[in-house]
Amino acid sequence: MKISNKISIVKDWAYGSIHLGNNVVCDGKTKDNTNVAVFSHAHQDHIHNDLIADAYNKDKRVLMSELTRQLCSTFMLVNLEYDYNLRVLNSNETESFDGFSVKLIESKHILGASQIEINDDKIGMMGYSGDFGEDIDDYIDVDLLVMDSSYSGEHNNRKWSMEDAMEALVDDIKQNLGKKDINLIADAGLLQKILHNLDIWDEHPNVIGTKKEKGWCKVYEKAMYSQPNNIFLKGSEEERQLKFQEESIFTIGHSRSVLGDVPKGLTYLVKNIGIENETPINEVSPNVKRVGVSSHATGRKVIEYVEKVKPEFVLTDSSRNQSNAEKLSKLIREELGIPSISSEEHQKI
Ligand SMILES: [Zn+2]
Repeated sequence: MKISNKISIVKDWAYGSIHLGNNVVCDGKTKDNTNVAVFSHAHQDHIHNDLIADAYNKDKRVLMSELTRQLCSTFMLVNLEYDYNLRVLNSNETESFDGFSVKLIESKHILGASQIEINDDKIGMMGYSGDFGEDIDDYIDVDLLVMDSSYSGEHNNRKWSMEDAMEALVDDIKQNLGKKDINLIADAGLLQKILHNLDIWDEHPNVIGTKKEKGWCKVYEKAMYSQPNNIFLKGSEEERQLKFQEESIFTIGHSRSVLGDVPKGLTYLVKNIGIENETPINEVSPNVKRVGVSSHATGRKVIEYVEKVKPEFVLTDSSRNQSNAEKLSKLIREELGIPSISSEEHQKI
């Protein structure tokens, strides 16, 4: 099998740093000879305040999409406004450096999330998928591909689509709205997409959340997504007032920790689990519903991604889930005949 050592993943922070040639690192820590740190999206397992601060300290360039910059500004301390080293790109825009260029292409995962394409004068075309969703219409053009493997390409027995699941969730929430307290928990970005699809904010303008949900909703609203008119902070005087005024309270959160131990009312936990169940919404208890909606591609869509990119070699990222990375590289070899290996196995060679 043809294996490339031009791309590699080093586990030097909580997740892997993805090196595409010598010049570029994606979603990670720069090495001495790295020139640019590129970040794919605003989820905290891909970008971190300290990674950016470290790159600034070493006088390396930091590159991300404008929407990723806006989302990160809502929770990071590092300067994302005007630092000399910061470069911000729009989707499909290319930034040229000495000996290589970087292009970001939308990955349809969350707002601002991008696939990263590197054109290196010495090595050629390399790229990183980042986290990606199902509706990609523009793909990176690369020979060496590093792939996120949060999902293994398995789960081909789905009985419903993500669209079906989103519709079912929106209907279910609307049916219970005003009758009892509602708690909606979903990953950052996915939550805002659900709120947009709900589109009830003229009649039900108020929700409870934390600073982070509020910040992300603001960025989504600016990008033309329909979001709640008022997000009152948990524990604030406004929250107390609202509980006097309104019969039922709508609470939103990026994680379950927003709610107390025994939350009041009906709780929706949105997670990419049970995607082969008969229906997308499953009642875990009378007050808790688990909903299988995700901003990640699953099953056949993951393999289709590789088919579209048509690389010569694929490295699957083991730093989040080793067994998924191995399953995915095996599927890519067997179904597409493209040489592929997981980053864990790659390191042993
Ligand atoms: Zn993500």
